Amino acid sequence: MAPYPVPTSEPLSRLVEELNRLPGIGPKTAQRLAYYLLRTPGQQARALAEAILAVKEKVVLCSRCQNITDQDPCLFCRDEMRDRSIICVVEEPLDILALERSGAYRGLYHVLHGALSPMDGIGPDHLKIRELLSRLQGGGVKEVILATNPSLEGEATALYLQRLLSPMGLRLSRLARGLPMGSSLEYADDVTLVRALEGRQPL
Ligand SMILES: [Zn+2]
Repeated sequence: MAPYPVPTSEPLSRLVEELNRLPGIGPKTAQRLAYYLLRTPGQQARALAEAILAVKEKVVLCSRCQNITDQDPCLFCRDEMRDRSIICVVEEPLDILALERSGAYRGLYHVLHGALSPMDGIGPDHLKIRELLSRLQGGGVKEVILATNPSLEGEATALYLQRLLSPMGLRLSRLARGLPMGSSLEYADDVTLVRALEGRQPL
């Protein structure tokens, strides 16, 4: 049995199905959104569809830091005012926004696009670790801040990177506790983030 009442037309049920795939959208919300879109003027619905396509077609990963961007290198890597001797390693592009909001960091970033999770079959090769290593081997970087999330996966990733990077003679640090365990950087408030950055621990 379907988890939600099957709408009467095939295009509509297809839309419900696609919306239901989105994170945080359950069957009921998917249905509500689909019916909302059905009543939306054609122009607005087209704008939404085109925005989704544009994201897929125009947004690429920055060849240096792997952040999402529509211009390579990205805004941060292009910015001559930023401190190029320090790289802050984060799990997701949204973590950069959180750190930028805090205003406490003026170095460069590196986005891993995930965290190690053997249970889900995510190993080092699935993350942008090779890209990080080649950046560091290029020289000029003195410090790496491991700003993965304070979750089991984030901690495991930080530990892995710590072992990997230790022989390179860089200053390694980890964001201070104060970030609640099991949470995500993305949801941390500015004060917590500033404290976590200032109190980063040498590894
Ligand atoms: Zn970049």
